[in-house]
Amino acid sequence: MHTIAAISTPKGNGGIGIVRVSGDNSLNIVNKIFVPYSRKNKSILDMPGYTAKLGKVVFKNETLDEAIVFVFRAPKSYTGEDVVEISCHGGLFVLDRVLDAVLSSGADLAMPGEFTKRAVLNGKMSIIQAESVKDIIEARSKNAARLALLNKDGVLNNRIFKIKKRLTYVLARISVGIDYPDDEDFSNIDYSKIKEELLNISKDMRNLLKTYEVGRIIKDGIDTVIVGKPNAGKSSLMNALILKEKSIITDIPGTTRDIVEETIFCDDLVLNLKDTAGIRNSENIIEKIGIEKSLEKIKEAELVLAVFDSSDKLSCEDKKILDLLKEKENVIGILNKSDLPQKIDIDHLKKVIKNLISISAKKNIGIEELKKIIKKISYNDISDPERGILTTKRQFVSLEKSLNHINNAVDQISANETDDIIMNSLDFSLEELLLLTGEKVSQAVTDEIFSKFCVGK
Ligand code: GDP
Repeated sequence: MHTIAAISTPKGNGGIGIVRVSGDNSLNIVNKIFVPYSRKNKSILDMPGYTAKLGKVVFKNETLDEAIVFVFRAPKSYTGEDVVEISCHGGLFVLDRVLDAVLSSGADLAMPGEFTKRAVLNGKMSIIQAESVKDIIEARSKNAARLALLNKDGVLNNRIFKIKKRLTYVLARISVGIDYPDDEDFSNIDYSKIKEELLNISKDMRNLLKTYEVGRIIKDGIDTVIVGKPNAGKSSLMNALILKEKSIITDIPGTTRDIVEETIFCDDLVLNLKDTAGIRNSENIIEKIGIEKSLEKIKEAELVLAVFDSSDKLSCEDKKILDLLKEKENVIGILNKSDLPQKIDIDHLKKVIKNLISISAKKNIGIEELKKIIKKISYNDISDPERGILTTKRQFVSLEKSLNHINNAVDQISANETDDIIMNSLDFSLEELLLLTGEKVSQAVTDEIFSKFCVGK
């Protein structure tokens, strides 16, 4: 395979920046532009794996930087190929020039994710582990990083491999029966036993599918909306939550009006507060964006924090909001201003909202309890990351397809269909599992996965 190179560290100024080179020719290429300081073993070509050398990067008689070169010999490297990492000073200009020198000396610029793609092709990791590399890089919370690391270690892979092994066994049992029709030991296929095993496998698959909900929440956070009439205390609530936690504000351009998305780290849970600009300005978002639009926002949200001023009677606006919440699960009714005498009709609220909590956003009372409720209703099925959790839509869809084929096989057994028809369904199911782990992988899927990576990874 041709040798590739890219800057593997983020763009910008930093103490160190790394140009990574991978492929059969990587040592030869870097040897052309690197002059080690040490007199003995002048060339880097003789360096064993896992060693480093200090020297200068020189191209066309000009010194570009002082650098340390790390050598990793195939197959003991990230990609499984010979890899050289040139660790330079982390300035964008310097790194670009060193990369140019490497490219001029015979390497090709790496495509996004190409190093990891090679690691997969060389059997260093599965597709699922490659996906978790991306998750590690993008992790925004302790839990997300932990889950991604566990999956990188192969925890999810192992869980799927176990399912695959059992399915392969069932397939093997049926195929020997077909292949040796005259052998009494094999030809009598006990379909009641096979059906039982397939039902067990499908149960395990369903349990694994369920983990995606938690995996997605850990990884991406929960899309949250705060609603309430003007002066109910929406901004105060947000500030109270943010005061306790870190917050990130990102402007997402390209929409008719820039959406301000704010992220609150509620312990190990990430809340993505959508469109909080209106709340920050203390405007009545319900009135401003219209009932229909609010309904849409509420529908889309995975969690609604509905704020009421408990020191006031329920107003028309409150009732309008309650109407919008009628069909919605995952709503927390927040009775704000608990420091003032209570006038609100709690019984009326209780009819619509199951989870109610009294707080005072201003006096910071009840915020910890609120966070506990948020976690409880968001994580109703805590799956154990140690056992493997699905984290991408691709994994979910692939496993779901595999399960459907197993279910078909079970129905076909019940309907006394032929061995061939049953085998066919099970073959499809196995094929999906192979696509899921990447043991069998289409070009379209790899392209899709790795195009989302950054260059240099
Ligand atoms: P929003 O329009 O819903 O965003 O409401 P704000 O957060 O701007 O609050 C409206 C008013 O209510 C402000 O004067 C706040 O200081 C006050 N307020 C908010 N929370 C509380 C609370 O818990 N107790 C009391 N007494 N006042 C509060």
